[in-house]
Amino acid sequence: MKERLVKLQAEALSALQQSQDLKALQDVRVSILGKKGALTDIMKGMRELSAEERPAIGNLVNSLKDQFEAAFALRQSELQQKAIADKLAQENIDVTLPGRTVVPGNLHPVTLVSDEIVDIFSRLGFSVAEGPEIEQDFYNFEALNIPKDHPARDMQDTFYISDDLVLRTHTSPVQIRTMLQHQPPIRVIAPGTVYRRDSDLTHSPMFHQIEGFLVDERVTFGDLKGILTHFLKEFFGDRLEVRFRPSFFPFTEPSAEVDIACVICGGQGCRVCSGNGWLEILGCGMIDPAVFDAVNYDAEQYSGFAFGMGLERIAMLKYGVNDLRLFFENDLRFLKQF
Ligand SMILES: [Zn+2]
Repeated sequence: MKERLVKLQAEALSALQQSQDLKALQDVRVSILGKKGALTDIMKGMRELSAEERPAIGNLVNSLKDQFEAAFALRQSELQQKAIADKLAQENIDVTLPGRTVVPGNLHPVTLVSDEIVDIFSRLGFSVAEGPEIEQDFYNFEALNIPKDHPARDMQDTFYISDDLVLRTHTSPVQIRTMLQHQPPIRVIAPGTVYRRDSDLTHSPMFHQIEGFLVDERVTFGDLKGILTHFLKEFFGDRLEVRFRPSFFPFTEPSAEVDIACVICGGQGCRVCSGNGWLEILGCGMIDPAVFDAVNYDAEQYSGFAFGMGLERIAMLKYGVNDLRLFFENDLRFLKQF
């Protein structure tokens, strides 16, 4: 039995050394110490030994068991290290490879123009206001001095949701909402999306406007001219020529349209300005007393002006874009130029 033990010891230790992975190592352990393992088998046979033989063999068995466990733990740790090293080698990252480029987004030209206009008016003390795009008839028309039978309703091809709800046709309802909530003095600039049933080369059913208004005591048409001229020169350049032409809007009286010298040809006459050297850029006027009535402002005490312009048109002129539809096609090659 002693020889069997010595032989087993040599075989077991050698088998451990030859194991190339953790599973093989575990198999060796089972073959020695498992229920049907070689050493377990020997231990079962010890019952048949004489009382004199038993302690010596018992010692040998225990010593073999200890040695085996120690050698097993050592080899196990070696193989674990090897497994980690193999894994690291496989997952090696080549830090010398060039990085993947992150393509940054950029703002839409209409947003850029809107931000710039808001910025100019912010420096004049205006604050930004917004309103809903689905608007009640009262705010979109009635309170702006456009009653149901008013011919101006035909000027604006309206999307009706119901008799009382429309997709707002202009940003002017923000005026009404603001004036109903605040007493003068107020100075507000309101950019937003508006909708009209119109679609061709120069019209889109969805487009953007920016609306501004100022109400206080003793506001005159001179203030209106001064602020709008300042804005246009800030936006298009100091030497810009500006002219005011009488016009009509239901919600302002008197009303004017503002032209600037054509930014494409410098006033010489070209296709963009239809040869006359001027470009229509915005509408404005002194707020009609009827609008003050609708928001319960005292028209004797207060006066004010309002103005509005189309952002796509401003962006077309600013960036020399000749087709309105380019703004809505979301072609990245176009949008990345700004
Ligand atoms: Zn021109």
